[in-house]
Order: sequence, then structure tokens, then C-alpha cells
Amino acid sequence: MSGDAPGSRTAVVTGAASGIGAATLARFRAAGWTAWGLDLATPDGRDADPCFATVDVTDRAALEAAFARAAAATGRLDAVVACAGINRDGVLWKLSEEDWRRVLAVNLDGSFHAIAAALPHQRPHGRGAIVLVTSINGERGAFGQTNYAASKAGVIGLTKSAAREVGRFGIRVNAVSPGYIDTPMTRPLPTEIVDEATRASLLGRIGEPDEVAAAITWLCSDDASYVTGQVLRVDGGQHL
Ligand code: NAD
Repeated sequence: MSGDAPGSRTAVVTGAASGIGAATLARFRAAGWTAWGLDLATPDGRDADPCFATVDVTDRAALEAAFARAAAATGRLDAVVACAGINRDGVLWKLSEEDWRRVLAVNLDGSFHAIAAALPHQRPHGRGAIVLVTSINGERGAFGQTNYAASKAGVIGLTKSAAREVGRFGIRVNAVSPGYIDTPMTRPLPTEIVDEATRASLLGRIGEPDEVAAAITWLCSDDASYVTGQVLRVDGGQHL
């Protein structure tokens, strides 16, 4: 992903304890980046990881402090990936105010906080990459997911607007839009939903977290140096 000295490129990944975020963190590290993982809790086995920290993305000040620590270690913050996300599904006439607000707070506010926390460290260098994670259901809507779909549609507007604002500073902002991916978020869902996604996929299967991570790390790499303001679907053609 880079020709710099090993470990000099720095990335921060939120939601890095699980699923797509964990796969993204692993890809950055395999490519020799110094990659920091942030999540609500530190999962087993990460206690000894000096580049893993417990942060709630809804807490802007805490996220800013964590980004500052990461940037201070190497003096740069090349890439920021906002993977933290939740769903609290329910038809809208039964959706509680709390479930509406929490999903918006983590998925949309958390993405905004990640951009805001990244800029002070990327602007002075005149370069940087930011990748947000939207969803197939943010583009098309989904029964029982008014909160989730609204948050993910918001992420698309946030991506495109932020890209327009920060392009002049050499900072690129893109989003990936995964289809149904096999992660702890989707595993509890009914088998009919998996079957429907499998049928909808032109490849006849659901996706793996690493397949999304590959697109994310590409968007963060110099190979994507002229790509900004885009929403890249990684969904096996589930949504055309
Ligand atoms: P996941 O549940 O495996 O991982 C999400 C991670 O986010 C978890 O480790 C969780 O602890 C963390 N998180 C939740 N709230 C947080 C908070 N307030 N602060 C910090 N961390 C927090 O899910 P995943 O499937 O890997 O999802 C990653 C992203 O991809 C999410 O934004 C999700 O909405 C999106 N996405 C997933 C799919 C899919 O099919 N799995 C499809 C489209 C989009």
C-alpha cells in the first residue's frame, strides 16, 4: 500500500474489535502500517496491543484524544476509517426514541466525529484519506431499519459534502457500501435474510469482512489518489 519506511504510515480504524473493522485493521498491519484500533471495549487478546484503545465514537472529545495519541506516535495520520456501527431493528411504529437516537448517534454522529478528529492531523500535511462505511440499506431502505437506513443515507451525504469541503486540503473522503457481509452484526439475523441476500448476489454468496477491508484499504492507498467523494459498493452485485 505504500513505499514509505515500514510503520511510518498511520491509520486509525474505529469499530476495530470485530467484523469489517477488525479485518481492515489486520490488512493495514499486514501492509506494514502503524494501525490503531478503537472500539467500545477491548476484546480478549487485545489487552497487550499498545495500539488498541477503548473509545465510544459518540464521545467526540474521547475520539479526538485517541486520534491525537495515534498521530503523535508517528507524527502523521494518513488514513481514518470509521467502521463502528450498530443496528437496532424494528418497524417504525414500534421503534423507541432511544433506538432511533442511539443508531443515529453511533453510525452518523460517530462518522462525523471521526472526520472532525482527523482533520487537524491531516490538514497540516496537505494529504489524507478518510473512509466511512454506509450500507446497501442506506441506499435502498429496508423493512424494519428506518433508523439504520437513515443513518447510513446520512453517511452518504456526509461523505460527499466533506469531500467537497476538504479536497482543497489534499484530503480524500470516500465511503464503502457493503451488501450482506458475514459478521457478528448479521449472524443473529433470520436465515431468510441470508438466503435472500445470497439469491440477490450475482456471485451466489454473501460477502466476507476481508473483501470489504480490501476495498477500504485500497481507497486509503496512493493507488486511489484521484478518487474522492465516491460510494464504492462491495456487495457482489446485490444492489444494482
Ligand atoms: P460488527 O458488529 O462485527 O462490528 C462493529 C463494531 O463496532 C463492534 O466491534 C462494536 O463494538 C463497534 N461499536 C459499536 N458501537 C460503538 C461505539 N459507540 N463506539 C465504538 N465502537 C463501537 O459489525 P460489522 O458488520 O463489521 O459492521 C461494520 C460496519 O459495516 C458498520 O458500520 C455496519 O453498519 C457496516 N455494514 C455492515 C454490513 C454487514 O452486512 N455486516 C453491511 C453494510 C454495512
